[in-house]
Amino acid sequence: MTGFARARLLLPLSDELGRETRIEDGFVLYREDEILEVGAYDEKTGGRLLAEHGELAVLGGGCAREPGGLVRHDGVILPGFVKAHGHDHESPIIGMVKDVPLTDWLDGAVNVFTRFLEERGEDLHAELGDSPHYLTYLKAKLDDLSYGITSAMTHHCNFSKYRVDELVRASETAGTRIIVAVGSQDRNYYGKLLDIPHTRAIERLDRAAERHASLSRAEIVPGPDQLFSNGPEILRSLKAWAREHESLFHCHSPEGPNTTDWFVKEYGRTPVRYASELGILDERTVLAHQVNTTTDDLAILKDSGAKIVHNPLANTILGSGMPPLMEMLDAGIDVAISTDGSGSADSQNILAAARLASQFQKAQHRDARCLPAQQALEMVTVDAARMLRIDAGSLAPGKAADLVLVDLTRPNLIPTRRSNVVENLIWASDGSEVRFVVAGGRVVKDDYRVTTIDASDLGAKILRLSEELDAYKTGMDEIRGTGAHR
Ligand SMILES: [Zn+2]
Repeated sequence: MTGFARARLLLPLSDELGRETRIEDGFVLYREDEILEVGAYDEKTGGRLLAEHGELAVLGGGCAREPGGLVRHDGVILPGFVKAHGHDHESPIIGMVKDVPLTDWLDGAVNVFTRFLEERGEDLHAELGDSPHYLTYLKAKLDDLSYGITSAMTHHCNFSKYRVDELVRASETAGTRIIVAVGSQDRNYYGKLLDIPHTRAIERLDRAAERHASLSRAEIVPGPDQLFSNGPEILRSLKAWAREHESLFHCHSPEGPNTTDWFVKEYGRTPVRYASELGILDERTVLAHQVNTTTDDLAILKDSGAKIVHNPLANTILGSGMPPLMEMLDAGIDVAISTDGSGSADSQNILAAARLASQFQKAQHRDARCLPAQQALEMVTVDAARMLRIDAGSLAPGKAADLVLVDLTRPNLIPTRRSNVVENLIWASDGSEVRFVVAGGRVVKDDYRVTTIDASDLGAKILRLSEELDAYKTGMDEIRGTGAHR
């Protein structure tokens, strides 16, 4: 049945209808995974839609055959959020190994947890009734839907690189869209993870791409973890794979100051110049972070067309520093805002990420005009979708039927009107007001309840997993392998 959603306010955030358009009493009509119509609602329109479609499945209102059944919510409809960089293996490690720099956190939390899943996987599977990897990824998808994220590029690093199938299954279960950037590394990293010979990484990518080729809402792309942990040969081979498959190529770029300093000392040039000389930067290359950027780097990035994903929550919590965001935007470099993984962020509240990005720039430049709410919102929707080359992130005919409805009856969002709705989403929202989510035309969050995942059952299993992790940590040898840059 054709779906229909209507709310007091609507933000299409689309080039077709105008990115800054704010519609009073707006509706979206969609069938399966495609938006058919977007616009202002009146009774005549309601009558026409019912005449054309017979009956409509109304978001939060059952099935309607009369205009009286076309329920209007006191909320704002906007596109589902697009997360351009994150990791789905970190949700169970929120709050773990905090107040330390990136490399210590990677060794103390991420690598411990993913190794724990690898080593204890079979026992945990027996106890929890499903693969602990799958459950971990499903929790990440639950987090995404809680905050209205309907599309994500997941950088599947560390031991997770061996677990692409479970991640795709979790995303399918949740009903979200996923781009899996399959990780690799062949140097300067935890020894058990090295892809030697490097062709192992290519074979892994080939297998994953072949297995999931038929899925319309999942895509496989190369995702070398870090420039310092992948040698020239593996990076060139992975980029060649991306060019052959016309896919994105995703990698972390400079994050912490110590890793950047180490890189410059080791290779005699900045990571960006190094990547440029290897020939791996172009308009399909998406770099996460890009903290510690020189003027020369900015020129290289601009000329190459490479894209940047800014993750302000992770960058500030890990004390990595922040990228020169305004300089990047002024130079004409495409930038999206994202959350990064839950372990460093420590949530998937993408509106909080957009707020922090804007707030930080205003403070740093002592200029309140930096990064207005409209621009920040575009960077988690339409700009991010364009970067990922997906038909999502905006509401217009022909686009994906991915939308969220934010509840405007919550005290912190009162009063919200047409004139301040974008500003309130960035500055007044706490991220928890996402009441409905439609992904691929399916209602996956219905009046605050995620319909595709049993949240309480999953929550109990993830808590059990984290208790087992605590026990595992007390008996294990220390991991001291991330980077040669200590
Ligand atoms: Zn990351």
